Amino acid sequence: IQGGSAALAPRAASWLGRYSLPEAVKAAGVLTALNEQFGEPDNPRKRRLKSLFASRSLDWVLNELKNAGLYPGEGEQPEFSSSGEWSRNDFYNGLLVALPSGSLEDTPEYAVASAWRRVVPFLTSPVRITPRGNLRLHPADRCVAERIKELLRGSRHFPPLSIESCSCRGLPGCRRARAASSLVHRELNGWLEEILHEFGLDDEPVVFRISGCPNGCSRPLFAELAMVGRSEGVYDVFAGGRAQGDRTAFLLRRAVPLGEVRELFRELFRQFALAKGENEEWTFGEWVFDRLLSGETEP
Ligand code: SF4
Repeated sequence: IQGGSAALAPRAASWLGRYSLPEAVKAAGVLTALNEQFGEPDNPRKRRLKSLFASRSLDWVLNELKNAGLYPGEGEQPEFSSSGEWSRNDFYNGLLVALPSGSLEDTPEYAVASAWRRVVPFLTSPVRITPRGNLRLHPADRCVAERIKELLRGSRHFPPLSIESCSCRGLPGCRRARAASSLVHRELNGWLEEILHEFGLDDEPVVFRISGCPNGCSRPLFAELAMVGRSEGVYDVFAGGRAQGDRTAFLLRRAVPLGEVRELFRELFRQFALAKGENEEWTFGEWVFDRLLSGETEP
C-alpha cells in the first residue's frame, strides 16, 4: 500500500493466454526459471513474480514464453464473475458447505459436523477445501449438497458476506501486525450481518476483508470493503474493489478507530441500500467506485 511502485503495489494478474494442461505446467516452470534468472530472488521485497512483470513488462514475458515453444491457443481473455467463494451462479453456491468458524465442528446453532458425518458415505467425488476454509462439493454430488442443506434446515443461516469474508492473523499472532485482525473478524462480520439485515441486504455478496498491517496477507485491497491495520485499534478503511477481484480498492477513510467503524459501515450501507432501491444492478464495490469517481469520497 505504501510502496508506491508497480512492483510492490497490489496488481491484478496478467492474462498469459490459453494453454493445454501440460503446456500450462511447462509455462509455470518457465516463469519460475525466468524469475530466478532475471528477477531479484535474494531481495525479499522484490523476489515475487510480479516484480519480474514490473521490471521487464508483460510483452517481454510473453516473448520469453514463445522462445520456450509455448504459443497460447486462440481465445479471449476470460471474464471472471467472482473472485472467491460466492459465485454469481447459484448452482455453484448450492455446492458450498459453509464453515465460517474455519473448523468442521458442531456449535449449538450450527451442527455441521454431525450433518457432514451422515452424508460422507454417499460422496462420489473429491471435496475441495476452498481458500476461505469452506467445503465445496463436486457437481456430481449435488444430491449430497441438498441433503446437507436439509439436515441443517433450522440451523443458523450464514449470509454470503460471512462466508466470503476473510482475515489474516494480525495481533497478537503475527510479529509484523499493527492491529488485530482475526481477533476482531467475527465481531465485524456480526456487525455487518446486522447492518445488511437492517437495510434488507442480507443476500448481498459483499466481499469484505481485514488485515493487521499493510502487508495485506488476506488481500484486502482486492475486496469491495476492507480494513487495514494502522496501529492498535485503528484502521484505514478501503472500498471500491470489484467482486471479480480485478480492480483494487481505494482509501475511503484514514485512521478510523475500531469504535467508529460500525457507524461508518452503517452509513455506507444505508446509502447503498437507497441506491440499490433505484437500481438493483448495483454491487457494493461498483457503487462505491462510482461515488469516488464522482468526487464523493466521504460517505
Ligand atoms: S497482513 Fe500483516 S498482520 Fe496480517 S498476517 Fe500478514 S504480515 Fe501479519
